[in-house]
Amino acid sequence: MKITKIEISHHRLPLDPPFRASWDTRPRTQFDAVITRVETDEGLVGIASGDMMVGFAGHEHLFIGQDPMAIERHYRVINNINFHYGRCWPLDLALWDLAGKITGQPVWRLIGGLNSKVRAYASSGTLRNPTEMAELAQRFLAQGFQAMKVRFHRGDWKDDIKALEAVRKAVGDQLTLMVDCNQGWRMSWDTATPWTLKDAVQVARELERLNVYWMEEPLHRGDHKGMAELRQMVDVRIAGGEMTRELYEFRMLIENRALDILQPDAALVGGITGLRRVAMLAAEHNTTFTPHTWTNGMGVVANAHLTAGLTDGLFLEFPFDPPEWSLERRDFMMAETFKVSSDGWIQLSDMPGLGYELDEEMLKKTRIG
Ligand SMILES: [Mg+2]
Repeated sequence: MKITKIEISHHRLPLDPPFRASWDTRPRTQFDAVITRVETDEGLVGIASGDMMVGFAGHEHLFIGQDPMAIERHYRVINNINFHYGRCWPLDLALWDLAGKITGQPVWRLIGGLNSKVRAYASSGTLRNPTEMAELAQRFLAQGFQAMKVRFHRGDWKDDIKALEAVRKAVGDQLTLMVDCNQGWRMSWDTATPWTLKDAVQVARELERLNVYWMEEPLHRGDHKGMAELRQMVDVRIAGGEMTRELYEFRMLIENRALDILQPDAALVGGITGLRRVAMLAAEHNTTFTPHTWTNGMGVVANAHLTAGLTDGLFLEFPFDPPEWSLERRDFMMAETFKVSSDGWIQLSDMPGLGYELDEEMLKKTRIG
């Protein structure tokens, strides 16, 4: 079997009302998705989405005519493109989807088969007032979620604490709570400086008081020493690494004992092929591996296969904050939305590959290139 074509298409969903993501200073009035399809001479097609495939155009010939199962070879080429041009990791995910279809196996089984399910945590995305946050938490609890992530970005972290206190008061210990401080990176137009170590320590002590399970991105992503010191100073687990770009940086984060929880996203960094190395290295060092998944539904699915199949994954991020971030918006490119079951777990199917299908009609309607 040979790869005959790689097709990239661009789609845009208008968002009215807009989505006000806590980590973005601008309201989002549209949501873009790029679909990558790898076609073969035997009619099987691997599909994936997640990142924008910036820098891929002109590199198709490096894959056409190749054996689709030579995933390690393809990973090395994508990694070289990543260095010279841009992040094209959805191609690796599409190749795994294709490998699953060729072998008749779901990806979670192909990469290890450890588990076919993973527990989800509801990852909220907007900054609501304390009363609304408490209501949201109660809705998540009623829907079966066992854990929820709360965003901090209201300007004064004391206001963030008030929202967290309201959530804790509303649900007691029935939900495991995580907090995302989003200090690791910024949108292109956001010039704010990240917290200092002393800022982070003050917040971390409050999170300990409220029994928060992990504190995410308390410092700039490159401040390994700061994160390692913070880990020494407080008991709350420190999480990060969602936008770390290179696999060797994950090795350094692990070796520097900078994080308790490592959060690379297969749709943004390394694909499944790269991140399975990171997941193994993390396990060898007693560091928890659980991916960031905030791209779109297809990205969530790919990370779910990686986490379930290869790790004892504690929780997987499930981006969900209706109405602004509904499953219909997040998964608009998929024939069916990707759901969490009523007990708060994500159950993966036995369908070959990544087990999802595209909503071709919607893709036609939203196509911009
Ligand atoms: Mg995050």
